[in-house]
Amino acid sequence: MNEVKKPQKPLLYYYGVVMLVLLLLNLFVMPWLAQREIREVDYNTFITMVENGEVARADVQTSENQILFTNEDNTVVYKTGMLPDPDLTQRLLDNEVDSYGQIIEETSPWVSLLFGWILPFALLYLFGQYMAKKMMDRAGGPNSMAFGLGRSNARVYVKSSEGIKFSDVAGEDEAKDSLREIVDYLHDPSKYREIGAKMPKGILLVGPPGTGKTLLAKAVAGEANVPFFSMSGSEFVEMFVGMGASKVRDLFDQAKQKAPCIVFIDEIDAIGKKRDGQLGGNDEREQTLNQLLTEMDGFEDNTGVIILAATNRPESLDPALTRPGRFDRRVPVELPDLKGREDILKVHARHIRTTGDIDWNRIARMAAGASGAELANIVNEAALRAVRSGRNAANEADLEESIEVVIAGYQKKNAILTDKEKCIVAYHEVGHALVAAMQTHSAPVQKITIIPRTSGALGYTMQVDEGEHYLMTKEEIENKIATFTGGRAAEEVVFGSITTGASNDIEQATKLARAMITRYGMTDDFDMVAMETVTNQYLGGDSSLSCSPETQARIDAAVVQTVKAQHQKALRILTENRRKLDEIAQFLYEKETITGDEFMEILNREELPAPEAQA
Ligand code: ADP
Ligand code: MG
Ligand code: ZN
Repeated sequence: MNEVKKPQKPLLYYYGVVMLVLLLLNLFVMPWLAQREIREVDYNTFITMVENGEVARADVQTSENQILFTNEDNTVVYKTGMLPDPDLTQRLLDNEVDSYGQIIEETSPWVSLLFGWILPFALLYLFGQYMAKKMMDRAGGPNSMAFGLGRSNARVYVKSSEGIKFSDVAGEDEAKDSLREIVDYLHDPSKYREIGAKMPKGILLVGPPGTGKTLLAKAVAGEANVPFFSMSGSEFVEMFVGMGASKVRDLFDQAKQKAPCIVFIDEIDAIGKKRDGQLGGNDEREQTLNQLLTEMDGFEDNTGVIILAATNRPESLDPALTRPGRFDRRVPVELPDLKGREDILKVHARHIRTTGDIDWNRIARMAAGASGAELANIVNEAALRAVRSGRNAANEADLEESIEVVIAGYQKKNAILTDKEKCIVAYHEVGHALVAAMQTHSAPVQKITIIPRTSGALGYTMQVDEGEHYLMTKEEIENKIATFTGGRAAEEVVFGSITTGASNDIEQATKLARAMITRYGMTDDFDMVAMETVTNQYLGGDSSLSCSPETQARIDAAVVQTVKAQHQKALRILTENRRKLDEIAQFLYEKETITGDEFMEILNREELPAPEAQA
């Protein structure tokens, strides 16, 4: 995409430069020009010169106690100290020395006029002319001349040969369909007008970070043959109060002149937050938001100005902004599913050289839960890894390793795990996997490695992709909690002691148990009462409690109860399968890596008690 107009420097900047130049001129050049060389001589020399008729003019400065005088042709200025000399006046008169007027001031009246007045004004005038012309160019006519402070820095993008197209965005088919309609409308509005269909004025792209919202907007710009104004929400809110509102006004003025066109506001939550009237609320932001609301009402339907906005905090947006008539269409841009991940990997693999035999589906399966940005990163890491090992194309192993790099960090080269620690880590990881396997009767992991990572993880477990899941039963959640406790349980069963290695497991298990109770109504105690609300679903899913302190205490007790029960279950499973636990942990300890297939192979090697009896 080509940026045809660079953001302009504010007008204030240019004025500043001109003023600085003038200041320097006055400070240094003027005195230098005005000041002719002054030779200091003693009083006798002065008297002698006067008597010889070599002095043309003299300036007796009684207050300064000095005399300035010039030679016959006024080219050299002399200076001398004054001595009490009653005959001085008479002497000057006798020798026809002109003793009126100040020598220094009068030496260069023209120069001082030129530099003190004419030059600065000429400079200012020229500069003014230049700026006026420039602003007219920018605003597209003399009518829209304005003082440039509050002007928006919206960049105008145009279509170019290297522009991003819809084909560069993989997956996200629903979002693409929705946006394609917009592009189609901008190409041929009459088709829509004939039927009387109104295009939405605003389209809000919502979704977690890195899922391609900004990319989609750029693709719209690349596909539609219309001007594309792009601005990020934070750019509206700047240092000076009131600037945000005027920037919004200016942006829409520009947009209306260039219609049909698209205006894209990225990260709109920076200005679109709910006006909650709290003390210390941000006045500037609210003014900006109000201006945006007014502007969006201000233009008629079908004028051809379409506003795209992106955010990952839709719930924080002001309801007035998201109501129909403003942003009336909301396009979810979610994390990609298996097919989406495969497509995204392939799109990005077009830009690197790969060996032809890569099983993209397998790689996509491994990268469960990764966002588009992470997948792009994975492909790039693979290419880097290929270069590092001196090959000229990335292969499947590169991709596999880079998934682990992107998700868990690099392998730590010099981490020193004692034998004992390595042994504990092996048991811990196998504990998780074994508990999971005994509950679901299928391979729980794709791979476990016990090579420390820079993220701090001592082992790394690649879960199997469970496929698209929309509902989870109570049992499944409980099984998950049991699996989380499995690592610690293995330590207990085998070593009889416990380590700090389970902190993350504990966190996750607690989160799940709490959600069961406070959000999913999965205990008899609280029935179907919501104790908690999720405040931002796309950014980590923080939640806030909404119940009395007494209830909170009861919830806490129930959470402990739930986790404890699952921990007991995990302990039981591991004790009953102690031989398998040892066997698999031994394998992992020696090889440092075990795949899901190897895991299941060992698990099913000799006859096992019927799995049904275990659950
Ligand atoms: P956000 O949703 O946070 O705005 P971006 O649009 O900035 O995310 O995406 C960041 C990068 O991730 C893009 O530049 C692109 O390389 C990659 N990416 C994300 N989603 C996709 C996708 N669906 N197809 C291809 N690349 C994607
Ligand atoms: Mg973005
Ligand atoms: Zn663990």
